[in-house]
Amino acid sequence: HIMKVNENYFGAYSSFGIHREMLSDEVRMDAYGTAILKNPSLLKGAVVMDVGCGTGILSLFAAQAGASRVIAIEASAKMAAVASKVASDNGLLRGKNQSQADGLQKGVMEVVQGMVEEVDKKVELQPHSVDVLLSEWMGYCLLYESMLSSVLYARDRWLKPGGAILPDTATIFVAGFGKGGTSLPFWENVCSFDMSCIGKELVNDAAQFPIVDVLDSEDLVTNSVILQSFDLATMKPNEVDFTATATLEPMLNVTDAKHFDSETGCCWCYGVVLWFETGFTSRFCREAPAVLSTSPYTPKTHWSQTILTFREPIAMRSNIATGGKVAAVGTDVYPAAKIDLRVSIVRSTEHRSIDISLEAIGV
Ligand code: SAH
Repeated sequence: HIMKVNENYFGAYSSFGIHREMLSDEVRMDAYGTAILKNPSLLKGAVVMDVGCGTGILSLFAAQAGASRVIAIEASAKMAAVASKVASDNGLLRGKNQSQADGLQKGVMEVVQGMVEEVDKKVELQPHSVDVLLSEWMGYCLLYESMLSSVLYARDRWLKPGGAILPDTATIFVAGFGKGGTSLPFWENVCSFDMSCIGKELVNDAAQFPIVDVLDSEDLVTNSVILQSFDLATMKPNEVDFTATATLEPMLNVTDAKHFDSETGCCWCYGVVLWFETGFTSRFCREAPAVLSTSPYTPKTHWSQTILTFREPIAMRSNIATGGKVAAVGTDVYPAAKIDLRVSIVRSTEHRSIDISLEAIGV
């Protein structure tokens, strides 16, 4: 019995815990809040669909912003029931018995339980009749466990031609990192003991797992480059999987001296970090466009960043303390002026996970 009580307790906690984490992520809430609440010309009177409504928060915003009808779709039976109750408790549920005379705000929100791919018969709605499609579909590294293909399905089935999709852009960035507190460098100095053998074992593993962690912008030793951009309004469903190349250049004047190796006069790049931004651009959000960034240069989010470690660090040119000299004399280290990368991200056969491949194809 005790086991059962615990299982239920943690089961319920873990799923509400995820929603609590998302609702407490200020960067996320600010971006969606701005996009939905501060663009009245888009939302007022609009028919809105929320793909994967969870607690219903984005639908509640849409109702608050003056939408005429909000269809909140949620696959999880438990969360759909929760969203309904929340809408009702806030006077926003569209109900048959609800009348203006009750003094309640006439609700505009309805919750439909099911996968967005399978709700045709559960909702009275003509195809291509939605004005605004909302969703918070992003996962770690943008695409891990991502619902992007479900959102594109909803777009193609329910959105009016020329209708709005929020967010409407998504961009993956890449940059090189140096001696930060993660991956290889972490193991090189643990309470001043050398545990680098553990780090080496981890990076030499054929199937290395990316580390989801927050990096400080001071850990970066290269510029930041766009790896891939998606236009949610126009992309094709098969464009979710991609291979892209990017060229990283050293930040010659990295400010943090910990990146400078005085023996070789170079700066070591230990791997790359990936992050994403989604845009609520002026294409649809004319009054108040917004950006949701998960970059190491901006306040942290629950997505953190995604860290991929090279098997061997790559020496890069540095200006620190060398007055512009690029390599110290008498070492056999030849620091690179750039790193050419090829990265591919494809959906894995395993449910909703992704396979990332990273190659340094030239220096
Ligand atoms: N919109 C909420 C929740 C985002 S989490 C918020 O911003 O806080 C994503 C939610 O989408 C989860 O609750 C998940 O159960 C749901 N979901 C995932 N895939 C779905 C699909 N294909 N159809 C309907 N709901 C889906």
